[in-house]
Amino acid sequence: MTIIYIAVYNYSGILRGVNMIIDLKNLKLRVKDVEAYSLEKILSNKLLDTIYGRFLKPTLVQLTVERTGKLYLANGRINTIIEVPCYRCLTNTTFPIDNGINFTLAESIHEEDYRGEDDIIFFTNPEVDITPSVIENIFVNMPMRILCDDNCRGLCPECGINKNLDTCNCKTDNIDPRLAKLKDLL
Ligand SMILES: [Zn+2]
Ligand SMILES: [Zn+2]
Repeated sequence: MTIIYIAVYNYSGILRGVNMIIDLKNLKLRVKDVEAYSLEKILSNKLLDTIYGRFLKPTLVQLTVERTGKLYLANGRINTIIEVPCYRCLTNTTFPIDNGINFTLAESIHEEDYRGEDDIIFFTNPEVDITPSVIENIFVNMPMRILCDDNCRGLCPECGINKNLDTCNCKTDNIDPRLAKLKDLL
């Protein structure tokens, strides 16, 4: 059996198989209405480059978008699992994501009306790529320091071994740098 993968680009060059697109075409025709979206995509690990992470499963985004006149209010949840290095020992650590997400969209023809409101996403094409909002939500809700274990002992600053797995003879614990200098003189 041959599997042929055909990449489909929309006019703005977005690869549809990779990004999370919600189609607001139907909502655009009504002034007040709600539409539900459920998207499940294998997102590119490149999106997590800045945190040295990768996705361990497809990302599921479930949203309802409510149109209230000019604004489209999106509300829902993001579910996925990522892997990032432990803050102390750099061991890959699983980090489940189950976040609420909400953002507001409006057609770019109304951009003037919302000048100064920087959290509105403006669109011209009703097929809106929400991947940036999803990634931003993941980053904003992540703790600064993810640990493999609350008691992670980290890496030895002297020889670099993982102190959770091994011991070394480096005398680095709690040595005052001034005392260390004295020791060198003796
Ligand atoms: Zn660790
Ligand atoms: Zn050491």
